[in-house]
Amino acid sequence: MTETMTAVVYTGIDTFEVTRLPIPTPGPGELLVRVEAAGLCHTDLDILAGRYAAEFPRIPGHEFAGTVVDAEPELIGHIGTRVAIDPLISCHQCRSCLRGHPNLCTQGQAYGAERDGGFAEYVVVRSANTHHIGRLSMPVAALAEPFACAVNAFERARLAPGATTLIIGAGPMGMILSIAARGWDIHDVTFADRIPERLERARSFGATDTVLVKDTVSEELPPAAFDLVIDATGRPSVLQDAVQLLADGGTLIPFGVCPPGSQLTLDPFEVYRRQLRIIGSFSLNRGIPEALQILQRTRFPIEEMITTRFTLRDGAEALTAIGGPNSIKVQFDPTFDSAPQ
Ligand SMILES: [Zn+2]
Ligand SMILES: [Zn+2]
Repeated sequence: MTETMTAVVYTGIDTFEVTRLPIPTPGPGELLVRVEAAGLCHTDLDILAGRYAAEFPRIPGHEFAGTVVDAEPELIGHIGTRVAIDPLISCHQCRSCLRGHPNLCTQGQAYGAERDGGFAEYVVVRSANTHHIGRLSMPVAALAEPFACAVNAFERARLAPGATTLIIGAGPMGMILSIAARGWDIHDVTFADRIPERLERARSFGATDTVLVKDTVSEELPPAAFDLVIDATGRPSVLQDAVQLLADGGTLIPFGVCPPGSQLTLDPFEVYRRQLRIIGSFSLNRGIPEALQILQRTRFPIEEMITTRFTLRDGAEALTAIGGPNSIKVQFDPTFDSAPQ
């Protein structure tokens, strides 16, 4: 008899179920991982809504960690290791891969999108996509993926020492950007948000200054004050407003996902005369080891980032909890589901 596991399965656009499926079998170069923590984020909602090119049925979940429990004979030594997963699989042959951007691979796939991911008791992943997590707890190790996205942003920004940073939007990704910034030796991190409680929270995760926004961010801050401005709201109007906050030589990162087709108005003379940069940062670029280092070294109360943990059986409730006012990071703990029912 094939053993089965509990899994969240997207069955089509805007439909999903929590069901029992056979435990998958690892092939050559692959490991079977028992998932012990899996984070939820807006990308999971975007996949469910059909805004990403994922095929259904699909087990979502791209931010996860667990223990290797089975492997082909040549990888048997991995059994028992505790790992975080890099969800991206790239071809190593296309133009993007050859130029150091495997995250932009034209043939790219990801666990949780084109391949089954971590919202299940077990998942099969390539050995090459696993990274040892040392003594980190599983919930913290499952933060490595979103932290690696922040690492990509700071690697792309290439800030000089002493740079001033403004993060607009004190949601989960804002917190992660802040902790990563402080781990990157950026010691001047201002947060702007409309909600005082979120700014209060930002202070415990690395904000050195906070600004409560009533109408626009630029009304509350001096112009040309920041070497780096990261928008974590995904609102084009916020980005438009933020351009005037860039110091000469400053960099703007539209990190929050704006609606496709939205527009900004830029004065090219200003870009020229003030040497402004607007740079993109998409997903992660092999940054899981750096992210794990930040998580291991940080002195911020990283465990407190995980505000809610659900069983897979509570999949519907978990999906609606993403972005809730009192939550930072929402995770599944699939080990709850294997307990006797
Ligand atoms: Zn995510
Ligand atoms: Zn490629």
